[in-house]
Amino acid sequence: MAQEKFYTGSCLCGGIRYEIHGEIGDIVECHCQRCRKANGSAFATNAPIQKADFKLLQGEHLLKKYHSTATTQRCFCSECASPIISIKTETPDTYRLRIGTLDTPLQQKPTQHIFTAYKAEWDTICDGLPQYAERS
Ligand SMILES: [Zn+2]
Ligand SMILES: [Zn+2]
Repeated sequence: MAQEKFYTGSCLCGGIRYEIHGEIGDIVECHCQRCRKANGSAFATNAPIQKADFKLLQGEHLLKKYHSTATTQRCFCSECASPIISIKTETPDTYRLRIGTLDTPLQQKPTQHIFTAYKAEWDTICDGLPQYAERS
């Protein structure tokens, strides 16, 4: 029997806690301006997970949703502002996890940089991963 993958995560204040019962998909470093602003950093590190695998253990009342585009909702902690997931209308069964909120050590490494056409001018990408001007 293959062992089920299992991860836990939480926001900065600990008010939101979640579990993932399943695979975490390819990790991408997204340099788009919206991710930069949402994270206050050079890029966001995101990976797809199945909605059905994501279970909120606590803090559902803290999880605030912000529509950053007409089709994208960014879900973050209304107490401490940690970004947790985003949800796209086109792919409602997939959540894009902000993997910096994981508490379980992750064996996977980032696979690529996306939206590098929009990266911060002060940011230098120093790894050898593939870079895509927009999506891969
Ligand atoms: Zn929080
Ligand atoms: Zn982005």
